[in-house]
Amino acid sequence: MSIDKNKIETAVRMILEAVGENPDREGLSDTPARVARMYEEVFRGLQEDPAKHLQVYFSEEYDQYVLVQDIVFHSMCEHHLLPFFGKVHVAYYPANNEVVGLSKIARVTDVISRRPQLQERMGKQIGDTISSAINSKGVMVVIEAEHMCMVMRGIKKTGAVTKTIYSTGIFKEDLAMRQEVLNLIKG
Ligand SMILES: [Zn+2]
Repeated sequence: MSIDKNKIETAVRMILEAVGENPDREGLSDTPARVARMYEEVFRGLQEDPAKHLQVYFSEEYDQYVLVQDIVFHSMCEHHLLPFFGKVHVAYYPANNEVVGLSKIARVTDVISRRPQLQERMGKQIGDTISSAINSKGVMVVIEAEHMCMVMRGIKKTGAVTKTIYSTGIFKEDLAMRQEVLNLIKG
């Protein structure tokens, strides 16, 4: 299924009317079409399988973990359709010498963030995509994000950062290794 831009345009027009605006006034007349194009871009990840970026891996004798740090992402909170954004850090411990290209982890993050999301689920989806695509002894995904729904409404907490950790396998069991990864991330 592809994104129905006409439907988004109709809906945006209705929202503008519902809040008491005139959708036909000059400044707003192109807004429904603009929002439709933007939603097509920010929700593109719904049409894609993130695992496709992990189909190619190198065979490399390497029995240590790999940490890809500071992957910048932008997503949309599914509760309010407002942005949340920040950084993703991914550690994985290859098994059977299956090592993926570092940019592939960023591509997986990009696909998964371009969906209506929750920060917690985003970390789990990134971790589970990597776990099921390559052989690993464990994956750990740390996300630090600022949520516009916290900044713009209600308690208005500018600068509040939400951190989530999703871990599997060795990163769940080996507390020293887990701590080492967290220390590396903190810099
Ligand atoms: Zn929200």
